Amino acid sequence: MASMEAAGGSPAALPCLHSARIIKQGAEARVYRSRFLGRSTIIKERFPKRYRHPTLDEKLTRRRTAQEVRSILRCRKAGINTPVVFFVDYTTNCIFLEEITNSITVREHVASAQASGQSVESLHSLADRIGQILAKMHDEDVVHGDLTTSNMLLVNEDDGKQGKLVLIDFGLSYISALPEDKGVDMYVLEKAFLSTHPNTEVLFERLLKSYTAASKKAPAVIKKLDEVRLRGRKRSMVG
Ligand code: AMP
Repeated sequence: MASMEAAGGSPAALPCLHSARIIKQGAEARVYRSRFLGRSTIIKERFPKRYRHPTLDEKLTRRRTAQEVRSILRCRKAGINTPVVFFVDYTTNCIFLEEITNSITVREHVASAQASGQSVESLHSLADRIGQILAKMHDEDVVHGDLTTSNMLLVNEDDGKQGKLVLIDFGLSYISALPEDKGVDMYVLEKAFLSTHPNTEVLFERLLKSYTAASKKAPAVIKKLDEVRLRGRKRSMVG
């Protein structure tokens, strides 16, 4: 069992976290696996940043925590699968989330499909589902901020079939109606997708097609995505 001291940084503010198992230590937050009211729970703790003025830090950290919760709740209200928020403690900036058990990340799923020599076609329906979910999320004006295939979980059903697709880690999310913000969101995913999964250009195109088909607002977003891509290419040419 890892302790917060072992993982570095300040000790956890909530006593219940001292016996929790750390699963990720980031620059802004620690993520723990624990139990809460008898349920498997993921606890995300944003800790103070010592280089910032304490009052400002407290304000910013609380705002970030609130923003993460707001985005999750907005998605859930729209029928997008995200973990249930069990509890939020704004004194310690801890979010208690339902643990999505019996799941693998989309990253693991795509990697294992590729490693076992499965055809790209076998991943088409997954790309379609991702496109549809992201279209719905953007129609709710939720911008995820860190779209990667590691932040999408696939639940395994008892019969071995693939179940729900769940979006996680809204730590950098915010609310915006601007096509530019949504275009950048898709650009971040495109970059992550193509660098994590080689030779998946066609698959990502399919995801974008499904995104476009699912949202009336998509053409403006795709236009911005094209602009952002062009800016990215110009930047890499200039060096
Ligand atoms: P995060 O910083 O929110 O990305 O969380 C770090 C890691 O914890 C993720 O990459 C997941 O593997 C895992 N994780 C986060 N939230 C959940 C959840 N609700 N259920 C299951 N695993 C999670």
